[in-house]
Order: sequence, then C-alpha cells, then structure tokens
Amino acid sequence: MATSTPLLMIPGPIELSPGVLAAAAAPPLGYVSPRLIEAFGRSIERMREVWRSGPSGQPFILAGSGTLAMEVAAANLVEPGDKVLVVNTGYFSDRMTAILRRHDAEVTEVTPRVGEAPAIEGIREILTQKGPFKALFATHVDTSTGVRVPPEPLCRLAREVGILSVFDGVCATAGERFDMAEWGADLYFTASQKAIGLPPGLALMVAGERALAARDARKNVPPLYLDWEAWLPIHRAYEERKPSYLATPATSLVMALETGLAEILENGLEARLETQARAAAAMRAAWKALRLRAVPKTKEVTANTLSVLLFPDGIDAGLLPRIAARGVTVAGGLHPTVKATSFRIGHMGYTATRPDYLRRTVEAVAGALKESGARVDPEEAVAALESGLAVPA
Ligand code: PMP
Repeated sequence: MATSTPLLMIPGPIELSPGVLAAAAAPPLGYVSPRLIEAFGRSIERMREVWRSGPSGQPFILAGSGTLAMEVAAANLVEPGDKVLVVNTGYFSDRMTAILRRHDAEVTEVTPRVGEAPAIEGIREILTQKGPFKALFATHVDTSTGVRVPPEPLCRLAREVGILSVFDGVCATAGERFDMAEWGADLYFTASQKAIGLPPGLALMVAGERALAARDARKNVPPLYLDWEAWLPIHRAYEERKPSYLATPATSLVMALETGLAEILENGLEARLETQARAAAAMRAAWKALRLRAVPKTKEVTANTLSVLLFPDGIDAGLLPRIAARGVTVAGGLHPTVKATSFRIGHMGYTATRPDYLRRTVEAVAGALKESGARVDPEEAVAALESGLAVPA
C-alpha cells in the first residue's frame, strides 16, 4: 500500500540513482570552477560514446528541456522554404512539425495509423518523387504511442537520397540502440530526465559533420542561444579543459551528467541496452499475464523505454488513482486518439536496472486492476515479470 514517497514510473522524469542524486544535490559550482570544467569536458567525451557518434560527432549540452533541443535542430538546419519530411508517430512528432512550420519549413508528413510505424518504401517514394527535401525528421520513440521507428533504415535512406536525418531521442537515447556513426545519422538529441537518468533541465544533442556544415551554409544566423556556431567555441574550450562562457551552464546538472553517463557506460553501453531490453520484455510479460493490450501494434515497433497500455473493457482513468494509492505514479494517456483509453508506464534507464521498482510497479497495476473488477491474478503477473528478468542476456 501507499509509501511516503511514491515511486515515479512515468515516462520521464524518472527515479534517480543515488550517485546522480548526490552529484545533483551538491552545492552548485561556478562555471569556471576547474571541477565543473572537468565534468563538462568528460561529459562531452562520454556523450560521444553513448551516442556512438565517433570522434567527429559534436556534442552540445544546453540548459533547457527537450523542446529546446527540437528548437535548436530546426533553428540550425532549416531555412524558410526548405522542404522537410516528418515521420509522424505521435504527439511529439506533431510538435516537431509545429516547430518546423514556425521556422517556415515546408513540411510533408507521413502519418501511419496510431500504433504503427510507416513502411520505408513509402517514405522512399515521397523523398524521391516529391523532393528535393533537405531533411527527414523522426521521433525515435514517441512517448504518446510507445512506437519506436526503425532508425537504421531511415538513416540509410536519408544518406542514399542525400538529405539530413534528425532523430528526437528524448524517450530513447541510452535506452534504445542508436549507432550514430555507423548508420550515418546527422543529429540525435535528447533531454536529461529520461533514460539518461538526470533531473529535468538539460537539452543534449550530438551533431554530425553534415549537420554542422548545414548550419555553416545558412544565409541567416539563428537566435544566439540556439546557434551551434555560438556554442562551438564554448564546448571546444571545455573539452580542452579551459574556462569559457556564453550563457551560464546548469552547473549542478552538468555534475549529474558526468555521473549519469559514467553509470550508463560502467559495464559498457551494450550491457545497459541489454538490461533495458530484458526489463522491457519482462514488463511486457507481466502486462500479458494481466491481459493488458499495448497501443503499439507489433513487437518490432514496441519501445523498450515505456509501455503504453489500453485500459481493459469497463475500466477507465479511474485506475490511475488506484495505482497511486499503492505508492506508484504512472501517467495518463497523451495522444489524442488514445488519451482517454490508455495509460503510460516508464521503465527506462536507471529504473530498468531496479527489479524492485519493476516489481512494485507490476504489483500496483495488478492490485489496482483487481480492485477495479478485472479478473486478474497479481501473483501470476509478478511471476511473469520475474521469469522475464531471469532470462540470461
Ligand atoms: N520528444 C519526446 C519524444 C518527448 O517524450 C518529450 C517529452 N516528454 C519531448 C520531446 C519534449 O521534451 P520536454 O518536455 O523536456 O521539453
């Protein structure tokens, strides 16, 4: 039943590891403090590893939320009249389109049914027949539908037709596989409060050489705070362990970032991704035991970072306070089509490394379902979770 501090299992912000919490909670450092400079420099280096960008990837660490990263992407890459294609898999793809239109881009959307990802062939057809396009934008995992697009074929297609590929990894980075250098992605961005495992407040992105060149080639300069060229010397200085200033960095969050990235890389990124995938599969086994159906229509498009589930017949959002009463906070529906009929559970990053958090979540959902009149067996759900977690990598 209810504990004093509810377990935060929404799709971001997430529960923090003790190390990240301690780093974020220490007295703030100044932006030219040698310790801060070291943490900033190391974070830049570690981002290249987590993004798998290779040495030519340029990380940027900005104070702001994920939406700032979306704005930065548009402001640096898109000029009025540019044609761009948005692969629309939910609420956050809608937001990307809205931002791109504010930058006067000519946006073409490819929008499959809710719960699906579009076929690559259809996208190829549009790119080759309705172009020339400048860039393709996709949401790696859309947090409103739980749909994961296949990033690799999208990156390769963008390269093949000679356009930029930009991915919103806010609900994915460090929780889903993304090989920026190998696949040839041009920009991959996220926010601190998701699978990276920090409090909210940092917009994090890695730009490839072609993305930086596209900024270079612009006729007009972007607003100062959004401009990669304004931030480049700052990030280069920090990487060389030299003091620098454009606008005050979120120093406490940079300290937390250094720790958070180190924890992700502790046993290698591959091990973290496997833990994440196993946790997600175990959660899906528990949902199956509870006869809950998911919004994503197939296994291939189902994200590992969160579950977007449909309420069973006869049950509605009244389920959420019953889950909360059991000490676990989950989120309501977000995508307009399934807003009233779905709920969302985050299980990403640090939380995916905590079987006890996953068990408490399954117990709370199962207990709330039973209280709501569903004929489910909470013990069967917990057993399904635990056998899923016991599967060797
Ligand atoms: N993109 C995705 C996929 C998201 O999940 C979110 C936030 N939930 C955002 C963008 C926007 O991020 P923020 O709320 O941090 O501005």
